[in-house]
Amino acid sequence: MDYISTRGSAPALDFEGATLAGLASDGGLYVPREWPRFSKDEIAGMAGLSYAELAARVMAPFVGQSLTYERLLELTTEAYGRFAHKAVTPLKQLDEQQWVLELFHGPTLAFKDVALQLLGLFFEEFLSRSDRNLTIVGATSGDTGSAAIDAVAGRAKVDIFMLHPHGRVSDVQRRQMTTVLAPNVHNIAIDGSFDDAQAMVKRMFNDTAMTDRFAIGAVNSINWARLMAQVVYYFAAALQLGAPEREVAFSVPTGNFGDVFAGYVAAQMGLPVAKLVVATNVNDILHRALSSGDYSQGTVTPTAAPSMDIQVSSNFERLLFDLGGRDGAAMAEQMKGFEATKAMQLSNAQREGAAALFQSARADQDEMAETIRWAWENCGELIDPHTACGLFAARTAGIDAKTPVVTLATAHPAKFPEAVERSTGHRPSLPARVGDLFDREEKCTKLAGEYDAVAEFVAGLAAPKV
Ligand SMILES: *Cc1c(COP(=O)(O)O)cnc(C)c1O
Repeated sequence: MDYISTRGSAPALDFEGATLAGLASDGGLYVPREWPRFSKDEIAGMAGLSYAELAARVMAPFVGQSLTYERLLELTTEAYGRFAHKAVTPLKQLDEQQWVLELFHGPTLAFKDVALQLLGLFFEEFLSRSDRNLTIVGATSGDTGSAAIDAVAGRAKVDIFMLHPHGRVSDVQRRQMTTVLAPNVHNIAIDGSFDDAQAMVKRMFNDTAMTDRFAIGAVNSINWARLMAQVVYYFAAALQLGAPEREVAFSVPTGNFGDVFAGYVAAQMGLPVAKLVVATNVNDILHRALSSGDYSQGTVTPTAAPSMDIQVSSNFERLLFDLGGRDGAAMAEQMKGFEATKAMQLSNAQREGAAALFQSARADQDEMAETIRWAWENCGELIDPHTACGLFAARTAGIDAKTPVVTLATAHPAKFPEAVERSTGHRPSLPARVGDLFDREEKCTKLAGEYDAVAEFVAGLAAPKV
């Protein structure tokens, strides 16, 4: 399988190349040249597999020649062996129609572990084949940073520099990053917002003074390997609910459009997905785009679901590319317009294509709080505010009563204890595996919110690419 850029002019790469590259050199995102498709019989044959086996089966067509099937299975077995639940992503029933898929049993308590634990192993595997070093630079509003750090801490040939906005991530989120003391992990607290941090990271990807010396890699969901790993749990849930014979709908708490795009990929591969409900909080650019075709950037409003406080959803470009006939030149033009004006209109093909599979809903603060209370009072389940956006959307989407609706539970409630306690009167406790988080030593460097300070810091510590 090879990978092409959504903007049409970067060279095609194999899976190994796309994984190490992150962003394409023309500013686009890598997507597989075509969607592999499973027959109904092949999907039926996946029922009852362990999560690690299912992961290898679903991902094998994307990985192509970059890994043997046996090696891929070894890596999925290692990655998912680190989860605290044997089912890896257990599915729970809430009522006749509603289900939640718990994606937070990994080391850092959010769904990002599902992909990043595996991505860390892919990096190590591919880098060990040559004399290359990789320098990962990322910005986080909370969950990506800790999951990425956990995934690469102590791994050979990788350094990670993770920027977070000083004072603007929760204590649990900060400590999950700063208490990792491995020498290849560098936490940077910058003065400024998440958007400022993100802008510095983007600038570094395009700074030839840096990219000539260092191989700068990405761990956010612009990296195709992350989305690929997330396709697996759509199969896992649907198989348990009767696929391929029965259709299943999913409701997905959405920020950067990565997780829900993985659901779109599952549908292209033949999984019977009835609907994908894109759930947003009041930062609702995607809800507006999908309901009226207007993709225009607003200002970010902080909410109780901070990992969805996003106004530009990078992975939406992958969907628009696929629905717009995979025309890289047209996509480059459309994105250039968006970058200049912070707004764009979807084409008719893009709108109609999206409407066939996607639906959307937005939850405000009260609706989130109500939904957390509903799950507790009616089902005895504590859910976090991100999951609550998803469940709110699932319950109001008007999906046919015969179709089960699976809400992706993207974070453990103990990651956001205040919001959960406010709604239910119960404070969720941290699982035993992270229980001593508040007793551990922290390591973090505070830098001014200036690009040069960050670039100098990275250049002083990173290993050159060869
Ligand atoms: C990252 C994150 C999201 C949003 O996922 P995207 O792939 O960016 O759409 C939702 N919930 C939680 C808890 C997250 O950490």
